[in-house]
Amino acid sequence: MLYLDNSATTPTHQDVVDAMLPYWTDVFGNPSSKYYAQAVDAKVAVDRSRQAVAELVNSKADEVIFTSGATESNNFLLKGIAMSHSNRGKRIISSTVEHPSVLETLRYLETQGFDVVYLSVDSYGRIDLKDLKEALLEKPTVLVTLLWGNNELGSLNPIKEASKLANQYGAFFHTDATQVIGKVRVNLEELPYVQLLSVSAHKFYGPKGIGAAIVRKDDMGLSLKITPLLHGGAQENGYRSGTHAVPLIVGMGKAAEIAHSRLDENLQQLTKLEARLSQLLIQQFGDVIHFNNDEQNKIPGILSVQFKGLNNEILCKELAPVMAVSTGSACSSSKPSHVLQEIGCSMEQLRSTIRFSLSPYQSEKELDVFLEL
Ligand code: PMP
Repeated sequence: MLYLDNSATTPTHQDVVDAMLPYWTDVFGNPSSKYYAQAVDAKVAVDRSRQAVAELVNSKADEVIFTSGATESNNFLLKGIAMSHSNRGKRIISSTVEHPSVLETLRYLETQGFDVVYLSVDSYGRIDLKDLKEALLEKPTVLVTLLWGNNELGSLNPIKEASKLANQYGAFFHTDATQVIGKVRVNLEELPYVQLLSVSAHKFYGPKGIGAAIVRKDDMGLSLKITPLLHGGAQENGYRSGTHAVPLIVGMGKAAEIAHSRLDENLQQLTKLEARLSQLLIQQFGDVIHFNNDEQNKIPGILSVQFKGLNNEILCKELAPVMAVSTGSACSSSKPSHVLQEIGCSMEQLRSTIRFSLSPYQSEKELDVFLEL
């Protein structure tokens, strides 16, 4: 069975599983304890993982805050910045195609008196910088939050330019980078105005239930004030209390190390696989299909395809014995895709859309199953 739902989650890499094993058994100590090997070794492992995650995005190790995943990172960063810095303004700017973990957090903040502007997007799901500038000009804004790479279409937003604009108008800038990590080069050294970033390990062959919030230090090396979601023993620089999930953190570190070392190779392979899959789909289905995604400036390996006249749920079920595909985001699979609605698809078009998301660990040969459809 060919697994083509890698944007929903990826299988845990075997080296990641192996790296985690000792931390469930021998090295079980609490890294916040001291004096004895089980604790000291656990702390060393957490620090090593922090370094590996930092290297993957080219930030500093002490800018990596471990969380339970991107949902938590998004909640923490958006609510935390809004609460700590509302003196800068009660406006937040985002877009209509964000992941539910951003959209629902923003809706909550609206109930707390924040005024959220949702920028509309073009036919591939990207915001227009002119709209962002206009919204920033209108009112003092505390925060701009924009999805880096779209989970259904793969389209990339102009993060460098958008973050610079946000900075010019005195707003913090956050991006949900969950889908791009490991599939696009992320170099925070070159993005000085991206102050806040959300990451999830299970999207790049790490374990589920672990992620990171990257919180950049300011020019003076000082930490940004962000109200925590979880108060307690002040782990993670006081940003996120709770005993460290050591085995999961070790797994995320290993996954980051692998993703970093294989980045070019993975990008090449995903690009090759995407081209082959597009070719096969056109060859097998011709006019029956239509691609919702752009061909350029996107995460390689994500295709959003309409099968005209077919129902996507029935199609996914029928395909299940040979391949795993989805109708769109796993996080909102019970509802029609808001992303496709926002790019102008009709109900009929979105009810006929399937998302294919590839893995660099797959071969072109494996895609030959499409020849039998
Ligand atoms: N943001 C985006 C863009 C995602 O694709 C996902 C996962 N579907 C999340 C956030 C949530 O990540 P997690 O599963 O780690 O909570």
